[in-house]
Amino acid sequence: MSDDPGKMSCAEFQAQLPELIGSGANAADHPHIRNCELCRSLLADLETIAEAARQLFPVVEPPDDLWAQIESKIKNEEGG
Ligand SMILES: [Zn+2]
Repeated sequence: MSDDPGKMSCAEFQAQLPELIGSGANAADHPHIRNCELCRSLLADLETIAEAARQLFPVVEPPDDLWAQIESKIKNEEGG
């Protein structure tokens, strides 16, 4: 446990990631991402998915469901 965002665990960071991206923040600038190759590649995957979603739904905001699905996908990959 630490208040330093650069020292948070991958699980902690990934739990915040959908919110971070959803808020429009630059997740790539996050201290954890800077120090963690794993989460960098995860973010790249998420951005690919998010970009695809934007192309599918150019006007409508992606539903909350979408992030829930992405989150469960992340958790599944962690298990493997
Ligand atoms: Zn990480």
